[in-house]
Amino acid sequence: MKIIDLRERALRHWVRCEKCGLPLEKSRFKLHLGVCPSCGHYHRLTPQERVDYLFDPRSFHLEAFSPLWKEPMLASKEEAMKESIHQQKEAMVWGRGEIESQACVAVIMDFTAYGGSLGAAVGELFYRACDLCLKSGNPLLIVTASGGARVQEGTLALLQMAKTMVGMTLLKEAGIPSISLLCDPTCGGVTASFATAADFILAEPGALICFSGPRVVEQTTGVQLPADFSRAEKLYERGLVDCVVPRIRQRPVIGELLAFLRGKEVEGIDSEGKRGEEMARLYARDKPIFTQ
Ligand SMILES: [Zn+2]
Repeated sequence: MKIIDLRERALRHWVRCEKCGLPLEKSRFKLHLGVCPSCGHYHRLTPQERVDYLFDPRSFHLEAFSPLWKEPMLASKEEAMKESIHQQKEAMVWGRGEIESQACVAVIMDFTAYGGSLGAAVGELFYRACDLCLKSGNPLLIVTASGGARVQEGTLALLQMAKTMVGMTLLKEAGIPSISLLCDPTCGGVTASFATAADFILAEPGALICFSGPRVVEQTTGVQLPADFSRAEKLYERGLVDCVVPRIRQRPVIGELLAFLRGKEVEGIDSEGKRGEEMARLYARDKPIFTQ
């Protein structure tokens, strides 16, 4: 009994690094923003943890979620019951808040809910967030963590790629800027739609950002892929990602970007070749890939 108590207590107060196995006190883990101080591994965070370190204290207001979608493919009452338990938890939360005193609307994906998949409810939430940006004139911050489209919703899930892109297009037409922060993992339909359609695309170090995962590509092509395949740093080299930003720098960097965008017409920033120039000018004092 005592051994069980000790084990429970240990589980309550300690976590273990997923990569190197280092045991860490939860409070210390939180202090390091979920980054292992020994091996530098970036652990996945919940939306609440993202809000805690990205936004100014007590500035973030979560928009209410109402169950928007009844699963069309459920075959039995049992499945419907199981689904109803999760209906308050969707793979995306949205709200408004301030980062370094700069107001923005934010959508934050939750990988612990349905693998962060893009389903009809997520598409609707994203569109509502875009609508709030249009009404308030505030920029949009997108924080992704997704396995792709929600396969159990079939074609309806794929349609969400088009729906979210309509939202992004409306923002662009209205001159409202958007910033995307790609976190591990960002895959499939999310990568192929709104995640990479923002004006500025930031990424966390080591994040997997792809359409199909390396294992699937290896199985399909029979080619051994390098370890950095589709990782944030590689995609920065190839031009998909504008900036690889460590967690500890994300709040000041996004705050500075929001302040910059507020004081400037956004037209032209997203046109060919301009985006990189603007980023280089903004961060001339730093390397585009920051070190911790
Ligand atoms: Zn570690």
